[in-house]
Amino acid sequence: MEDREYLEENKTDQTHTEEKGQKKEEDEYEKICYVCRRPESVAGPMISMPGGMNLCHDCMQKAFDSVTQGGLDLSKIQNMPYMNLNFSDFSNLNPQDLEIPKKQKIKKRSDKEKKPELELKDIPAPHVIKRQLDQYVVGQEKAKKAISVAVYNHYKRVFLANSSKNQDEVQIEKSNILMIGPTGSGKTYLVKTLARLLNVPLAIADATSLTEAGYIGDDIESVVSKLLAAADNDVERAERGIIFIDEIDKIAKKKNTNSRDVSGESVQQELLKLLEGSNVEVPVGSNQKNALTPMTTVSTDNILFICGGAFPDLEDIIRERLTQKSSIGFSAELKDKYDKEENILSCVTNEDLRTFGMIPEFLGRLPVTVTLQTLTKDLLVRILKEPKNAILKQYKKLLALDEVNLVFEDDALEWIAQEALKKKTGARALRAIIEDFMLDIMYEIPKDPEIGSVVITRAYLEKNGGPLIQMRG
Ligand code: ADP
Repeated sequence: MEDREYLEENKTDQTHTEEKGQKKEEDEYEKICYVCRRPESVAGPMISMPGGMNLCHDCMQKAFDSVTQGGLDLSKIQNMPYMNLNFSDFSNLNPQDLEIPKKQKIKKRSDKEKKPELELKDIPAPHVIKRQLDQYVVGQEKAKKAISVAVYNHYKRVFLANSSKNQDEVQIEKSNILMIGPTGSGKTYLVKTLARLLNVPLAIADATSLTEAGYIGDDIESVVSKLLAAADNDVERAERGIIFIDEIDKIAKKKNTNSRDVSGESVQQELLKLLEGSNVEVPVGSNQKNALTPMTTVSTDNILFICGGAFPDLEDIIRERLTQKSSIGFSAELKDKYDKEENILSCVTNEDLRTFGMIPEFLGRLPVTVTLQTLTKDLLVRILKEPKNAILKQYKKLLALDEVNLVFEDDALEWIAQEALKKKTGARALRAIIEDFMLDIMYEIPKDPEIGSVVITRAYLEKNGGPLIQMRG
């Protein structure tokens, strides 16, 4: 008997703590209107209903208005069903059906938690950004320099927008970036490294999946929704983040087309507002708007947009322009010169990009153009060994855990770079080539605890011999 009482008591205690825990969690998140799905920070205080439902003022008013429009004489209605409404009927509802999934919840922010305003001293100077990028990204000096300056200016602009010091009329324009470079030259890697160093959220989207609103595919605003997710639904953090839109060359205006260009020019048109800065209503925790997803508003005013693409054939357009411009007599000679010029992309102008199919308004909103060069053999060798997280360093570290010293001969590295060049996918090919021959090494070496070091030679890679193995002692 006593035991049972004890158990009962314990059970109530447990339910109490559970309830308390649940209450605490509820307190941490914003209430969301059951009808319009806006959070209380947007829609204002909520009217809480039984069963965990909340209604915002607007929706309550609308419901009320729609009932009373044209006048309603309650006295004429006999046996009004809801006069006998028993709120305990709601207890039949399964609370889980009403619950909003955690990833769609928006965390409340107390005044204390609100981030202090961005200070000028918090923004790293361009040479500091570049120095940090240097530790990860090999070569691409001009691009790293241009990006460091653009990012520095961008965050200065954010600082001015939030600060009271911005009294005069001078408005700094956004320094969104257009990044042009061949596949595997480090565009995405550069942006990822940048976001990590600056500790800002980053969303990477693919322009090919974007279509004009209303057509099959992701609509433009989904990129902002991705950024919000990357910022853990923290709107303020998202508003200072970076959005990278890859494959931007794929939304060039289609030439000679009679059908509606829903994934080309019209996507460029729709991106304009986003790039420039506007308030976007986005679903939280989902990339689809529907009646059940909470919505919030994100301003893209201070979001840095970087658009990247390989722009195939752009080199030919540049060459053609350069040769045409030059005086007629020398054109053959010049053509020869430009044909040989490897870094022709760096001569790109807005005119060339317009010929390629980008619309002028779109280009106008990407004032900084950065070009990346095709990686040469030497650069590929450096990429193998120099970056902080270079592939070779990673393998060395893995084998060091088995107390084995892994060494690559210079000749072997050259061979890997040469093979990668043949694949024409830039540095992306390196990992696949290395993984191919390292599989055997990583499998065989730990078998014999007496092995002290392994030297990867060119002969081994060319399948003319084995790696040099030295025993301990
Ligand atoms: P893309 O230009 O097509 O966006 P990525 O940035 O995705 O190319 O590059 C693919 C991979 O190659 C990266 O993850 C990175 O490891 C490596 N890589 C490319 N360029 C460089 C570079 N300049 N320095 C260091 N690593 C690089």
